Formats: sequence, C-alpha cells, structure tokens
Amino acid sequence: MRIFVLSTALLTLLLNPLFAQQPLQLLLEQRGEVVVSMDAANILNIPNHYAWSFEPAVGDKVKVYLNKKQYQVLLDLNIPFVPEAIPSMAFEAVMAASVLEMKSWDAYPDYDTYLAMMQQFALDYPGLCKLDTIGETVEGRHLLALKISDNVQTDEQEPEVFYTSSMHGDELTGYVLMLRFADYLLTNYPVGTVKNLVDNLEIYINPLANPDGTFASGNSTVNGATRSNANYVDLNRNFPDPKHGEHPDGEEWQPETVGMMSFMDKHHFVMSMNFHGGAEVLNYPWDTFSARHADNNWFIWVCREYADTVHTVSTSYMSDLENGITNGYDWYEVAGGRQDYVTYYLHGREITNEISAVKLIDASQLPAHWDYNYRSLLNYLKQATYGIHGLVTDTAGNALEAKIFIAGHDKDSSHVRTDADGVFYRYLKAGDYTLTIEADSFVTQNVTVRVKDYQQSILQVEMQKPVGVTEFKIGNWNIYPNPVSEVMTIQWQLSASDLNQVVIYDQVGKLVLSLRVEQENYRKLFTLDVSGLSPGIYFVGVNNSIDVGFKKLIVQ
Ligand SMILES: [Zn+2]
Repeated sequence: MRIFVLSTALLTLLLNPLFAQQPLQLLLEQRGEVVVSMDAANILNIPNHYAWSFEPAVGDKVKVYLNKKQYQVLLDLNIPFVPEAIPSMAFEAVMAASVLEMKSWDAYPDYDTYLAMMQQFALDYPGLCKLDTIGETVEGRHLLALKISDNVQTDEQEPEVFYTSSMHGDELTGYVLMLRFADYLLTNYPVGTVKNLVDNLEIYINPLANPDGTFASGNSTVNGATRSNANYVDLNRNFPDPKHGEHPDGEEWQPETVGMMSFMDKHHFVMSMNFHGGAEVLNYPWDTFSARHADNNWFIWVCREYADTVHTVSTSYMSDLENGITNGYDWYEVAGGRQDYVTYYLHGREITNEISAVKLIDASQLPAHWDYNYRSLLNYLKQATYGIHGLVTDTAGNALEAKIFIAGHDKDSSHVRTDADGVFYRYLKAGDYTLTIEADSFVTQNVTVRVKDYQQSILQVEMQKPVGVTEFKIGNWNIYPNPVSEVMTIQWQLSASDLNQVVIYDQVGKLVLSLRVEQENYRKLFTLDVSGLSPGIYFVGVNNSIDVGFKKLIVQ
C-alpha cells in the first residue's frame, strides 16, 4: 500500500488570515474548489442559497464549499468569509493498488483497482453479478453499477433497488462499504437472508458516483479529492427540484447527472439509498419542502430500523440529531438533491445516509464502519420485499401502464406507477389503504388493501374497458336528460354499496371526465355540467368498490 499526504506550505499559508485571500485564489485556480466559513445569518442574502454547498450550521457559523463563481458572488455581495482547511488535502490516504491489497477492506482502492474489482465481481459470479454502465464523467471516467440478482442476465419481475455512494467525491466511507457489500452478497449467496434478497430483488450497486472528484489529484490517490465534479459543480445540487425548477443551481445538468437520471428512470428503482459523509445520520425526504412526505411514517420507520440495528453494535455511532435520523428540511434545506429528485419525479423512495462523522475516515476505521452498517444494509433492502406488490392487467391478462394513488393520503407526487410489465410496488406502514388504479382507456378502480409490517400484500387488478358496454350491473341508476346539452343529472338507488365515482369516456375510450363522489352525495341526485364536451356519443360510467356500470350519453 502507498500512503499519500500533502502537507504543503500552501496549507500553512492558507490558515494565516493575513494571506487568506491570495492563497484562496491560488487554490481556486489549482483545484477549482475551496472551503470557507461565514456567518450563518448571511446565508439568506445569497440568491439561490438553497442550491449552494453549505454544511449544516454550527452555532452562528457555517462552512460552505465554493467554486470560482460562488467565490465571486460572496465578494460581490460583500459577505465576509474566512478560509477553512480542506480536509482531503491533509488526508493520509492509505491506497490499495491491487485487488489483493483490498482483502482486509482497510484501504481505499485507487481508480484502476476500483475498475478491476468491479470487473472481477462479474467474472467470478457470472450467474449472480453483471457489470452495468451508468455513463461517463466529464473527464471520461466510468460510472459503473453492479447488478446482483439470481438469473442476473434476465430482467425479472422483481423490485429494483439501488445503493449509490460518493456523489460528493470527498465523502468516501460508502465507496469502500459498497464494494464490500457487493462482495458480501456474492460470497454469502447460497444461504439465509442474502439468498432471499438476491433471489427476490434486482440489487444495483454504484460505489462511486463522482470519480472525477474522488480522483481530482490523479487516479492513484484520494488525497485532495473534491466534493464537486470536474466542472466544479456540486452534483447533489444539480438535479431538477420540485420547488425550484429544473436547474436550481443555475448550472447545466452535468454528464454524471444526465447519466444517473436516465439510468434510474430506466430501472424504475422503488427503494434507494444515497451514501454521503460528514455526519452520522439518516436523512429522509423532503430536503426541499418543509411539508412532510405522504409516507412520512414509513420513512421514519425504516430509518429508525436502520439506526436501531446499528445501535445493537454501537450506541454512540449514528446518534446525531434524533438518535441517528432526521427529516431533511428540518436539518437544512437543500435544492437540486438526488433524494428529492428520485422521490418526487421517479416516484421512488430514497434516503440519504450520512455514514461517517468525517468525510474521509482513516482507512483503518473502514472495517468498524462495515461492522456497524452491514446488518442495516441488508434490513433496508429486505423492506423492498414487503408492502404491496401489485399487477395491473386488462381482462385478457395483458400488462397495463397505470397510476396508483391513495385518495386522502397521497400528495406531492407520492403516488406510484406500474412498470411497462404492469407491476407496481407500494411501501406503506401497516394499515388499510384504498388504492385507486387509473389506466388510459379503462375504468378507474378502487381496491382496499390491508398492509402489515414485515409482510407482503399481493394484489392483482383486472381493468375493464368501457367501450361497447351498454348494460349496467349495479342497482338502478339513470341519467337525464339524454340527449343533453348543458347539465346532466345522475340519479341512483344503490342497495349494497355506495357509489364513489363517475367517469365519462368518449367513443374511442378516452377518459374525458373523472369525478369522485363525496360521501354526503352518494345517495342523492347528482348534477354534472357537460357543456364543455364536444357534441357526440359518450359513455357514462359509475362504480363502487365492487362493480361498474355504463350508459350511453348523447351530448348535443
Ligand atoms: Zn455529501
């Protein structure tokens, strides 16, 4: 192993305030990124501060990573700041220069060793492990992911889950732990929990999401690693944000971001975890909204389980904030983060795992961090085997693309969608939930499902076509006048079950109106303004939780 340390005169100079500005500029020229501290009270004076790379404030001071542009913004705004030491520059990096040197998991693999390890996993376990590519970095390094599953060459109907680490290139505990986790799954496969996970999930692992930042000083050392990528952009502020738009940081989407977005979209990951460093805490959505996620109690539950499992090994490790867990926004607001992007736009469930108190831990501490975490890494994936596992088809059994939401529960894009193969997964804390299933050209259905903790609920939904259906099944109901030009009245008498929805389809089966019926209206006359519909033939459908009925309606 080789040990790299950079304890330059530059750093000494940097720490002397008299020379502060000049070395900062020099450092910015050399490595594109510096760290300063400033008064936390000044944060709000910075436009789009929510997409800057602040650390959580300590007292009334806050540290922030700056690129050249941001450095200039602070100067222009006359916001005072002082240089801070850059941890990765003083880091004594114990590096492994071969796969063999990683056998005790107490070194950081250099870039070539990392590539070799990733390839070796796939070579050694061709039935369980496949090497996949997410994309390339600014400097042409590889963004890689391992797929680990039984029948790994086949895309099976199993939940796809994703562990990804070190999009901040200087937060590297997760880098080594992810490699070790892949090794653990592959070497322990034939038995127990590991077999259950590998057989029933498609597990993707990306140990290094920002190799240009990690190897900013060259492929042989992580000394001098940067948080940002080679364009000095913080990748965890570079994603579209549900509150602040497509480019909250004012930067173009970086190659790393584009690659990750398309990879995640393609795989439709249902649960994921994103490993960082600098604290010991699990951070759950949202980072950008102060409001809670609809499944807040589920997030707290799985985070609590992770931290509590860690605490069976060490009570002091991972005990920051609420004994190891926190709501993201309550801790500090972040825009453009991956966690909210995945959770909002891809309808996934992502947690940010701040896995070590310092970003770069001494390599000798890596095995202890593995021991703290590996049981929890297994538990978290196991949660993907629970919850509702659903399949939506038409009456002939063909898979349908559908939206599944829970009225009165879902908000802020917390609903889920099926894959192209008609499968969906919904993870919820125990309870009874009424799922509404919507598919284009089909009659919307409501199904109540009982969810139990640590159990899987299987649901099959067969969707009905409205076109050509003229008879009705559910009690007596009528629409008048028919033909109608303005306001239509629906009248019904239902004995067993309450009407809860009215839909109108046009002749080609396109849904033109869908209305939930409020409880207080369910046995009354119900009027509907249809003057907005073009003249023609329509089908009016009503349904309750068991059945549907249709009538032809002529709009003049
Ligand atoms: Zn980070």
